[in-house]
Amino acid sequence: ESYSRIKEVEGKVDSFLQLTEENARQQAKDLDQVLTTEGVKGNLFGLPTGIKDNIVTKGIRTTCASKLLENFEPVHNATVVEKLAAANTVTIGKLNMDEFAMGSSNENSGFKVTRNPWDTNRVPGGSSGGSAASVASGEVLFSLGSDTGGSIREPAAFCGVVGLKPTYGRVSRFGLVAFASSLDQIGPITRTVEDNAFVLQTIAGYDKMDSTSANVEVPDYRVALTGDIKDLKIAVPKEYLGEGVAPEVREKIEQALKTLESLGATWEEVSLPHSKYANAAYYILSSSEASANLARFDGIRYGKRMEDTNLIETYRKTRSQGFGDEVKRRIMLGTFALSSGYYDAYYKKAQQVRTLIKQDFDEVFKKYDVIIGPTAPTTAFKIGEKMNDPLTMYATDILTIPMNLAGVPAISVPAGLADGLPVGLQIIGNYFEESTVYRVAHAFE
Ligand code: GLN
Repeated sequence: ESYSRIKEVEGKVDSFLQLTEENARQQAKDLDQVLTTEGVKGNLFGLPTGIKDNIVTKGIRTTCASKLLENFEPVHNATVVEKLAAANTVTIGKLNMDEFAMGSSNENSGFKVTRNPWDTNRVPGGSSGGSAASVASGEVLFSLGSDTGGSIREPAAFCGVVGLKPTYGRVSRFGLVAFASSLDQIGPITRTVEDNAFVLQTIAGYDKMDSTSANVEVPDYRVALTGDIKDLKIAVPKEYLGEGVAPEVREKIEQALKTLESLGATWEEVSLPHSKYANAAYYILSSSEASANLARFDGIRYGKRMEDTNLIETYRKTRSQGFGDEVKRRIMLGTFALSSGYYDAYYKKAQQVRTLIKQDFDEVFKKYDVIIGPTAPTTAFKIGEKMNDPLTMYATDILTIPMNLAGVPAISVPAGLADGLPVGLQIIGNYFEESTVYRVAHAFE
């Protein structure tokens, strides 16, 4: 039972911002009814799940781990939440994250720091740290996270679980509080690849409420879980195993390649030459979009209002007290990059780099089925270790950001332990080729 497990471990990991026990018990009771009349319906029937707190839930506080939205109760559900409810899952609570999904360690949460279940002195990763920690510690069977530059995959790697960022447009973003709309995707965090495929099956598909969701048929992902990867062609970018990747991580990835070879796949080294510009482009683009998306949090429309003498002062007070330091840093960076006179030099340049990065992927996928590398350059780091240096923190996502810029799907699967801490193997596929990604991940697992 989820809540008794939560009682046992939540004091140590702190995954949840809010438990919705009363709702969950009611849901469970309703399901008992369905069970007696209709029996088990669907693959996710009755499974306990947690939802990242930037995905809106009707009548249930959704804070984005921000003081500014401390008391915000949405009036509708995100499409993914509706779809999970229709699949008869039970929502256990809302999960901690970095404020507005900006961060790689959960330390930017406005409320508390979630801890890595493998070593509670270490971060669980971020921004979906609560989502990964809750699955790794057995509090829920699966969770939803969001990934703008690595926020599902990096915490999945750090916590030793499976996390997928789907193709941009595969899953509806309706009801996901936008950070960088052209990069954000919702995806499942699970213990196994099979569970992951079941959850994606449930949440994927076109949604008329999200104009960027893709009207592309959702295949049956189970069909891909055969274990057969004979003759599959793998590309290994030399940029992903080079400088900056810890030796113990590299070793695990090399071992993983041997395993995949023994299963009949072949691999070759390739180059994604523009990868080295990915972080620079990402922080311009994501911050620019964030500065526009977060303009709506003015104390008038949503969440907390800090009244002052007039409207402008009310805005100022709400935003200066409501947002944390990292969010302010991004808003300043974004408004600067978009300001007249600088737009061409920063925003436009970054868009051009984004196209080059996408073309690097297109080139490789002409010849190969998947691209493989580590998910993160290191294993989980210590709480506090990177907090004083934003650039070191940003470097954590160097291996996950290119896929968001290109829009391709990528999964992180556990690839063993290094010094007692999980290492994540990242498998990247061509657009809408989640099936191929799952095929390889499942065979490897
Ligand atoms: N860590 C990256 C950032 O801070 C990615 C975040 C994310 O994917 N939401 O922007």
